[in-house]
Amino acid sequence: MTVDTLCVQGGWQPKKGEPRQVPVYSSTTFRYETSEQMADLFDLKAPGYFYTRLANPTNDQVAKKIAALEGGVAAILTSSGQAASTFAVLNLCQAGDHVVSSAQIYGGTFNLFAVSLKKLGIDFTFVDPDASPAEIAKALRPNTKCVFGETVANPSGVVLDIAKFAKVAHKFGVPLIVDNTFPTPVLCRPFEFGADIVTHATTKYMDGHSSQVGGCIVDSGNFDWSKYPERFAGLVAPDESYHGLSYVKAFGKQAYIVKATAHLMRDFGSIPSPFNAFLLNLGLESLHVRIRRHAESALTVAKWLKKQPKVAWVNFAGLPDSPYHKLVKKQFNGTSPCGVMTFGIKGGRAKSIKFMDALKVIGIVTHVADAWSCVLHPASHTHRQLTDAQLKAAGIPPDLIRLSVGLEDPQDLIADLKQALAKI
Ligand SMILES: *Cc1c(COP(=O)(O)O)cnc(C)c1O
Repeated sequence: MTVDTLCVQGGWQPKKGEPRQVPVYSSTTFRYETSEQMADLFDLKAPGYFYTRLANPTNDQVAKKIAALEGGVAAILTSSGQAASTFAVLNLCQAGDHVVSSAQIYGGTFNLFAVSLKKLGIDFTFVDPDASPAEIAKALRPNTKCVFGETVANPSGVVLDIAKFAKVAHKFGVPLIVDNTFPTPVLCRPFEFGADIVTHATTKYMDGHSSQVGGCIVDSGNFDWSKYPERFAGLVAPDESYHGLSYVKAFGKQAYIVKATAHLMRDFGSIPSPFNAFLLNLGLESLHVRIRRHAESALTVAKWLKKQPKVAWVNFAGLPDSPYHKLVKKQFNGTSPCGVMTFGIKGGRAKSIKFMDALKVIGIVTHVADAWSCVLHPASHTHRQLTDAQLKAAGIPPDLIRLSVGLEDPQDLIADLKQALAKI
């Protein structure tokens, strides 16, 4: 089945007389007939549900669809994209371990790594995603447990060369984790280029309607943890909290996701509500139609913006003259990577603000990647505490506007941008 059909029919497969739509199992708990049946679930000896903090059948049906879309063997939904990134790393790392990450990642992920996980004793080295394999390899240490990157970085738009990062990681014997939020598996499937684990903020295009926050982790099943029993002792060695069970021995290719459920969800929570999983599934049913339109409209708008004399610069990897255009052609289905771009207005911060305030159709919101077109000015919003000099050091020019192109008629969006440009 193609990705388009899987968007509609992946996951929940109703049998005779069963509901066509995935049922919402709004229940914290599940009933059993004997004490032993329940005990077997607690020991992970039998499959089944017992408490929704660990797993819920509605969530699992939707996770199964995302696993199929990515071409993976198993997936788990989380309550946010942040929870997905946290669990993806904590499933492999503990205090004293080290991670190599692309420096071009979502700001929230950067804070999670550089501040919060660092406080827990996990060390991070950030590398330029455009660095050579030899330069990236230099960042790896004996205690490195994984390499992390973002397919299309939010907001910088930098495109990750997945095969390059995978090669370096595999040569060393660690997996590559890729945040594939912006392209979604419809436009890019990182496993095909060597990534081992994929994470998502389903909050963005997968939900697609600004209706709920969520995340997902998918395992390709390709990384052989048992080849490195000491490095990945958490997956290979006996887990004392499950009477000495080894995840790899007991669950094979499902080991990573079973551990995320049985260990991290059990201890840290962060499960999404089954109703949110239901809403996510509604979004997924049209993802293939929506994301292509987002990407196509963004390219139309980017080409138009580039021709405007009052626009200083446009950064969008879908543009033929983008330094990432070749990589997009190699890694993506189609030549436009997503619906999000950045651009600057001549005259800097003040002009950019005046321009944004003049927009009528395009809204000012923090979010990106949903049906409504929107803009954000990092210098006034997400990064407002920084001076112009500090912004430049962080790679965010003071005039930078992030534009997320929605599902409206692109000509209406261009008309709105045009009237706002005329007012400055
Ligand atoms: C939004 C976002 C996240 C975080 O997701 P939340 O659901 O907001 O926690 C992670 N990665 C990327 C690329 C994002 O755009």
